[in-house]
Formats: sequence, C-alpha cells, structure tokens
Amino acid sequence: MKRTIRDFKLENKKVIVRCDFNVPIENGAITDDSKIKAHLETIKYIIDRNGKVILLSHLGRIESEGDKQKYSLKPIAIRLSELLDRDVKFVPETKGDLVYEAVANMRNGEIIMLENTRFEDLDGKKESKNNIELSKYWASLGNIFINDAFGTSHRAHASNVGIASNLESGIGFLIEKELNNLEPIIKNPKRPFMVILGGKKVSDKIGVINNLVTVADKIIVGGAMCFTFLKAKGYNVGQSLVEDEQIDFCKKVLELHSDKIILPQDINVSLEYSPTVTGRIVDIANINYNEMGLDIGPQTINLYKSILRNAKTVIWNGPMGVCEFNKFNIGTKSLCEALSKQKITVVIGGGDSAAFVKQFGYQDKFTHVSTGGGATLELLEGKALPGIAVIPEK
Ligand code: ADP
Ligand code: MG
Repeated sequence: MKRTIRDFKLENKKVIVRCDFNVPIENGAITDDSKIKAHLETIKYIIDRNGKVILLSHLGRIESEGDKQKYSLKPIAIRLSELLDRDVKFVPETKGDLVYEAVANMRNGEIIMLENTRFEDLDGKKESKNNIELSKYWASLGNIFINDAFGTSHRAHASNVGIASNLESGIGFLIEKELNNLEPIIKNPKRPFMVILGGKKVSDKIGVINNLVTVADKIIVGGAMCFTFLKAKGYNVGQSLVEDEQIDFCKKVLELHSDKIILPQDINVSLEYSPTVTGRIVDIANINYNEMGLDIGPQTINLYKSILRNAKTVIWNGPMGVCEFNKFNIGTKSLCEALSKQKITVVIGGGDSAAFVKQFGYQDKFTHVSTGGGATLELLEGKALPGIAVIPEK
C-alpha cells in the first residue's frame, strides 16, 4: 500500500499538491471542469486540517513563447476558487521572487497555484526531462508532497517524480481511487473477466492486449481495431482503417488465443467518413472494396451483449465505432446501455472512452470511469507508473 495523504500531519505544513488540471479550454473558457473537480477532495482535506496548499499542474504543451498565454493556469485558479468558494491565489510564475514571497507569506488554510509547470519546458525541457535543479527547487517550497495527478503519473517529470525524490511524499485521493479501482481488476478480477477493446489503433493497444489476453477470459473487439484482426483472418475490409504492419501481431494473438478473441460478425459500413451518411449493414464477408466500416452491426451487438451477460468484471477501452457521428455510435451506446443494467464491476479506461461515456450520460452508471488516458492504458499493460512507483510504501 502506498503512503497516502492520510498518513501525514498536515497542520502548519506547506503541502505541494501535483494536480492534473489539463482541462479543455476554448477561446479562454474551460469547456469541461471535471478534472478540476476531481481534485477538490484532496485540496479540501488539507485546508480542513489547517495545512497550506501549493498547487502545481501542467496544461497543454509549451513549445514556444506563444503557447504561454493560451496555456496559463490563471483560468483554472479562478474556476477552482469558485468551486471551493474561497480564495485561490494565482502566482503567474513557476519560480523566482513572486513564488518565494507567496510561499513565505502563506497562512494555514491558504491555497496558492503556481503557473503551468511546462512553462519550464521552454528552458531545455526542464519539467518534462525531470531536471534535478528544478525538482529540488520545487521540493524546497514545501514540507510534504502529494501526487494527485493520475493522468501524468506514467511520465517521470520534475513536478511529480522529481519533487517526490526530494521530499516526504504520498498519493492523494484521486490516485488512491484510481489504484483501488484498477489494481484489483488487473491482479485478481472476479471471473468471468471480460475486456472490451475498440478505438482507433491496434498499435496503441499492443501492450494492453498482450497483458490482458493472459488474464482475461474473453477479449471482445470492436472499433477500427477489429479490421486489422479481420484482415489477419483473411477478410476483405475495403477502405476500413487497417494497420498492415500489425497484421502479423494480430495473427499471432489469434493463433495463441483463438478461444478468447471475439470479433464482429456484421459491420455498419459507409462509402465515406462523414457524419451525414447513412450506413449499410453487411456480413463481415461482404464488405465491398469501396466501403469502410464505421461501427459494429446489430448481430454483433446482440452477440456481444449475450457474452457480456455472463461477465462479473468488465474493463472497456475504446469505442465500438466512430461515436463522434450519431449514426455510428449505436454499437458503443448499446453496450453502454446493456452494461449499465448489469450489477457487475465495469471500469472504463481511455481518454475518448471516458469522454463518450460522459457524453452519453453513463458516467455514474459504472463502477469507475478512469481519468487516466495514457496512464490508465499503461497500468492495464501491467507497467509500473513512475509517478506512483516513486511514492514510498507504508
Ligand atoms: P481511447 O482514447 O479511449 O483509448 P482511442 O483513442 O483508441 O480510444 O479511439 C477513439 C477513436 O476511435 C474515436 O475517435 C473513434 O472515432 C475512433 N474509431 C472507432 N471506431 C472507428 C472506426 N471503425 N473507424 C475509424 N475510427 C474509429
Ligand atoms: Mg484516444
């Protein structure tokens, strides 16, 4: 068990909290604040115990001076202040006199937020390359470090691994919740354990497939990913998205685990990739050379639902079709609806997957919707996440 925020005396302490405030921003306005809300519990816990909160986060990628205005954390500080109904002092620097003064004058229960950690990437990628001086400098600002940024925990950056290497540290409530939900499933799932895999690329998910195929009882495949598998089985998939360089990988997985991998029987195909076209349902053997598969078909939906009916645990990563288009989100929506009615453990992982579950209104219907994206995938691959590995066990 990792040391957590509960294991520290927080009164009078300056607590550096690494958050993942990497929210979508359009024209200066935050379009979805759920990533900010996800950290409220950790922040409130410190304030309630008379600690002092120093918040760090990245936002976007900073590759030139021009990116700085677009990716300032100031709007996040304003939104957080509204959500907490208390002051959040924004310091528009990542180091230097302003930071020194703000930190030196903190009172118990006060919250400050420094500017985007990735502003330090303009100076030799110090944040992203886990620069030692920068890590030590940030660590010197506080007494305790809490890593609560699950979404960046698969990266070894100065603001997570760097600080944790130089200061007493633990994980916050968000990371704890992610680990509590994800780890038991990967290590000791209630069976039958079924994995639904979809989304765009086989190549993005090779690690996940390799790891989960040994643990899972069934892997149910949809999304564009199914076409590389179908092509590996000799089907003509027309203009569907295929990764030819992954065909050998798919062949091997099918050879070794033919009983576990479940592929579609029919597909909703279209002549073009467009939100306005209406698809045609075809058997996987009858996809024309000029057609592309954009969703799984009704027979497949029924097959997948009937298999999933026996599951005790389900992990789902990647949509079954182009769920951005209303006419091709039927597979994804149908499985959401079916799973939401089963009283079993259902965990959703992956950036786009979490987004569609939320968009369709199912986020509260499942056991857990992971906030992680890449970090969740790496955990499902069985990899250690450096931002968490660096935190001591208790
Ligand atoms: P996640 O972020 O949850 O890991 P991915 O990034 O792997 O998921 O995949 C999401 C994307 O996959 C979506 O943008 C969706 O449009 C796309 N996708 C799903 N099925 C298809 C398909 N049949 N053809 C093209 N794109 C697809
Ligand atoms: Mg994605």
